[in-house]
Amino acid sequence: MSIFDELTRLKDEVTSEIRGASTLEVLEETKIRVFGRKGGALTTILRGLGSLSAEERPEVGRQANEIKEFLEGLLAERQAELRGEALEGRMLEERIDVTLPGCWPPPGRIHLINQVIRQIKDIFRGLGFGVIRGPEVETDFYNFEALNIPADHPSREMWDSFFLREGLLLRTHTSPVQVRVMEASEPPVRIIVPGKCYRRDAVDATHFWEFHQVEGLLVDEGVTFADLKGTLEVFARALFGKRRRARFNPSYFPFTEPSAEVMVDCFLCEGAGCRMCKNSGWIEIMGCGMVHPRVLSRVGYDTERYTGYAFGMGVERIAMLSRGIDDIRLLFEGDDRFLRQF
Ligand SMILES: [Zn+2]
Repeated sequence: MSIFDELTRLKDEVTSEIRGASTLEVLEETKIRVFGRKGGALTTILRGLGSLSAEERPEVGRQANEIKEFLEGLLAERQAELRGEALEGRMLEERIDVTLPGCWPPPGRIHLINQVIRQIKDIFRGLGFGVIRGPEVETDFYNFEALNIPADHPSREMWDSFFLREGLLLRTHTSPVQVRVMEASEPPVRIIVPGKCYRRDAVDATHFWEFHQVEGLLVDEGVTFADLKGTLEVFARALFGKRRRARFNPSYFPFTEPSAEVMVDCFLCEGAGCRMCKNSGWIEIMGCGMVHPRVLSRVGYDTERYTGYAFGMGVERIAMLSRGIDDIRLLFEGDDRFLRQF
């Protein structure tokens, strides 16, 4: 085969190889095989020009260079084509649909317990009560002693407490704040005290070792049980509906005298009797009473001049009653599937 035939064959072969190259990698391999400095087919021919005769050399050189230029042009063209295709493919693959909705963390919400506390606070603020908070770690004195519950008093059995080091405990009720406020200020006192309380109760559907109370206290001249009744009736209607009636059953608390349990007629059965009200038609919502004179005199109030009333309710109980929840533990487990319903 003459050198010219060889050149022509090489040109045809490489031309079809370039045209048929399906990827940039295949094209690169062809390029190296033909133009590579070491062992490239065309490179080898051009390097061998020196061994040709003087007559052949110019013509072979001219043709070889022509073919080289032609193939280089063809290679560049195919390279550009393949790059374009690759880019298009990538753009299709990585396309972003800007019309898709974005992802975001779900918005937070106020926990049901705090919703209920806010509701209660709103009602009493409207009645002229201020909102006060107090310490959750209390002394035995404020938690019991100052509330007319001396160390040997049998009513201490009502509270299974978490005792800390000597003389300190986690408060079992919000009532100690009453004493702290009265010690610090003169009548008139008109406050509610929302906050956490702790009792060493066995956990079940209606008991948890941590819970919330809202305590209320009003001390002024000439305050009577009628004022207490009126205030709590307004509260019960604001919370459970305008048509609610309230009933006061005699009860006992060491720090109030007389004491009462506040019942509202069942808002589920309208008093007819159902599971919620245990067929009685009435639901207990809180305890209350006239502040015991011993509690008042202990903080230095003149019991001839001042009287007062106090009340306290469990926030969890109000939340469960008003939202139809049958297990207190749901309120503390933090399960969003439950909480997001409210
Ligand atoms: Zn009922």
